[in-house]
Amino acid sequence: MSKIQMTTPLVEMDGDEMTRVLWGWIKDILILPYVDLKTEYYDLGLENRDRTDDKITVEAAEANKKYGVAVKCATITPNAQRVEEYHLKQMWKSPNGTIRRILDGTVFRAPILCKGITPYVPGWKKPIVLARHAYGDIYNSVEDRIGAGEKAYLVVEDKEGKEVRRRLVHDFAGGAGIVQGVHNVDRSIESFARSCFNYALEQKMPMYFATKDTISKTYDHHFKDIFNDLYEREYKEKFEAADIWFMYTLIDDVVARVIRSEGGFLWACKNYDGDVMSDMVATAYGSLGMMSSVLVSPDGNYEYEAAHGTVTRHYYKYLKGETTSTNSVATIFAWTGALRKRGELDGNRELSAFADRLEKATVETIEEGKMTGDLIPLFRREGVAPVKLDSKEFLQAIAQKL
Ligand code: NAP
Ligand code: MG
Repeated sequence: MSKIQMTTPLVEMDGDEMTRVLWGWIKDILILPYVDLKTEYYDLGLENRDRTDDKITVEAAEANKKYGVAVKCATITPNAQRVEEYHLKQMWKSPNGTIRRILDGTVFRAPILCKGITPYVPGWKKPIVLARHAYGDIYNSVEDRIGAGEKAYLVVEDKEGKEVRRRLVHDFAGGAGIVQGVHNVDRSIESFARSCFNYALEQKMPMYFATKDTISKTYDHHFKDIFNDLYEREYKEKFEAADIWFMYTLIDDVVARVIRSEGGFLWACKNYDGDVMSDMVATAYGSLGMMSSVLVSPDGNYEYEAAHGTVTRHYYKYLKGETTSTNSVATIFAWTGALRKRGELDGNRELSAFADRLEKATVETIEEGKMTGDLIPLFRREGVAPVKLDSKEFLQAIAQKL
């Protein structure tokens, strides 16, 4: 059998621990036998990040901008314990944060659905894709504790540093308290909106965006205006032609709509809403191992990954020579997402079709009852008794199907 050829390389970002082990197996068992894989390889494993003073992460992100499509393995974000464990020179920043800053992107998280794995919300039949604005609000805020009798102001200066506005936030005459200053910038909100509209068009999914503009009449209202203006100006006709819709509503209204819905839409969220709601939606669909994630930049660069981490507990078992039953589905879908997109951009139909077949084989393997341990308690399908496979057996079962 001749292998599928590629013209442009994928940017391959390797990672850490159990997901690094799965990474190698996925390539060996599911990709290399069928595809003459071309990648530009960047080792973002923690040891190599430390060796290169984290320059490797920046180089990988730059390569992502050059070639357009990357696939990334989960990586350790070091904390104090990791600094000790790996004898690090310093507590390097989150690679995902670095890549996001360089690409200026929006993160979309989508559940991978299989017959037999029912979401905790029984009405959900189709995926709900969550888009989270990854800049500003409380994540870049200034906070302070205010003593009794003090006053807190919002002060604005012009370019020369001259005070132009001053507004009382609160007079704490009645007792001590707290204050918080948050901000956002038009450019970031607009690029977030653009990424969401493009994603909805590409996936032919209708889209909600919601804030609390009735209460936050300037701040949240500005988000609403930017989304609505951009939609009217550049996207309305395209949405109508694609037979999808965009709806702005209040955050509490959208939460009620989401629960009553059958899914099948994109839900764009402000930073905090996206942080909280993406964990709720992911959990409600069943398992972290079944949630894929893609970072899309406004100028059309894509970075595909799994939504979960490096599954450290399983890795320590693996190091002791024990077998693990670690779910590789989200990592497989990171590869298929990247291969399909590469195929689309290069007009390489065979490559995109391979990605479709690999996804189908993965889903059908589970639907026929062969799965990893995390899915066993969730699986209910008449006439199918689920069988727990170890990490490698699961990949081999998919290969058989493929
Ligand atoms: P995690 O790796 O997502 O794992 C947390 C737990 O969730 C696991 O112990 C496991 O539960 C379950 N789980 C997650 N993915 C699974 C899978 N594919 N198959 C089966 N079970 C799965 O999160 P963490 O333990 O909090 O973080 C570990 C490391 O990952 C940290 O160093 C963190 O910095 C990093 N991280 C990286 C990313 C990223 O690169 N995008 C994201 C998050 C975290 P059981 O133990 O009960 O089996
Ligand atoms: Mg969160």
